[in-house]
Amino acid sequence: MSFDIIKGMATTLRNMGKKPTTISYPEQERELPARFRGRHVLHRYENGLERCVGCYLCAGACPADAIYIEAEENTEEQRVSPGERYAKVFDVNLLRCIFCGYCQAACPTGAITLEHDYKLASYYPEDMVYHKEQLLEPKGQATVGSNTVWTDPAPPEATQPVPQERHVFDGTQASAAAVGLGDLPTEEPVLLVDEEQDEDRRKFERGKEKKNV
Ligand code: SF4
Ligand code: SF4
Repeated sequence: MSFDIIKGMATTLRNMGKKPTTISYPEQERELPARFRGRHVLHRYENGLERCVGCYLCAGACPADAIYIEAEENTEEQRVSPGERYAKVFDVNLLRCIFCGYCQAACPTGAITLEHDYKLASYYPEDMVYHKEQLLEPKGQATVGSNTVWTDPAPPEATQPVPQERHVFDGTQASAAAVGLGDLPTEEPVLLVDEEQDEDRRKFERGKEKKNV
């Protein structure tokens, strides 16, 4: 018997009786962390209205260009959301999605969250584009999803040393930096040229300075 076989047998014997680290999926499933990011869910309010107001902020924040929205105006006869508009079409291309959660973070109404559904295989690529009908909570259900676990502050070891400086976008920094979410200078300054807006910004800055005095 060669030495390699003896070594292999020894490893087998050493591990016999130990608890396996693998599980028998799909009969068994692992418990996921509370902040696990799986497939998106669109939420409703208690009164049945959709939380999504078709503002496109999630699509704008998406680094993978995975969200496609067509917004439509609400009317008094047909009110779908409490805002001016609602999402008539809301598609998420899960083949493009990198499950970063930026869409959830960008949403002002808590309409979109990433939940624990990770079983997303399909034979056909087009089936991986999830439509509003698949993403929206059914009528009679109104949850806030993983927004509850994301409202808790992150543990200190997870906080990032990002600058919290001006909180005003004046074009000298990338917009994310201007609101304290990074510190990347823009390649070419895109300073505002609208005098009225500039004046508003200066007033805002002066007000802040006075407060700090
Ligand atoms: S999780 Fe990230 S990549 Fe996926 S749709 Fe949302 S913002 Fe885009
Ligand atoms: S999910 Fe949120 S961010 Fe996206 S369009 Fe709807 S309201 Fe706006």
